[in-house]
Amino acid sequence: MTKVMKILKGRKKMKRNYQKELEQILEKEEKGKRLLLHSCCAPCSSYVLEYLSQYFEILVYYYNPNIYPKEEYEYRVEEQKNFIQKLNTVYPVTFMEGEYDPQEFYQAVKGFEDNKEGEQRCYLCYELRLKKAYEVAKEQNCDYFTTTLSISPYKNAQWLNEIGEALGPFKETSSYLVADFKKKNGYKRSIELSKEYGLYRQNYCGCIFSKKEAEAKEKE
Ligand code: SF4
Repeated sequence: MTKVMKILKGRKKMKRNYQKELEQILEKEEKGKRLLLHSCCAPCSSYVLEYLSQYFEILVYYYNPNIYPKEEYEYRVEEQKNFIQKLNTVYPVTFMEGEYDPQEFYQAVKGFEDNKEGEQRCYLCYELRLKKAYEVAKEQNCDYFTTTLSISPYKNAQWLNEIGEALGPFKETSSYLVADFKKKNGYKRSIELSKEYGLYRQNYCGCIFSKKEAEAKEKE
């Protein structure tokens, strides 16, 4: 089955309440386990870190070869590191940067460059980043892995959770931590925290295509 077919198949599935499922896991799970949190940027990580660091020791993994241009990437990395240093947490939060090789992204989304944000190109972009997060979580002996991406109203939480779950558990008791962080006012709280900490909120998702789309919208 091609990746695009998988996408269409996913669309027909019944919708799950991922936030509720996350709450059930948090209720049952022993506190202080290790979570690898893939992060796309400091503002999106703000609420997720505030929320999940009450339950987990977190390794923030910054792997985003989709971001264009390099200066923007570097700026977002610095914002992420600074935010982690400033945030008070119950369990410790550490940082790890992945490799920045934009060719990995262009290769992954080949043929889908003309898509609009939210279409198949984004599915492939999620998949690329989650696969890497999964591998690093295994290497780092984490108990869970997840991503901040579902906090954005522009991101498809169902796709993210389906991709994460399909990667499968890497330890007997560990796997993708299902989530839909925009729920329960998560997105609203991320905006509040961004203001409180003076975080840079970019006006486009990250890739060159989303940058052009945002610029075209601005002109309109
Ligand atoms: S719009 Fe965002 S999620 Fe979609 S391909 Fe570009 S960077 Fe990735």
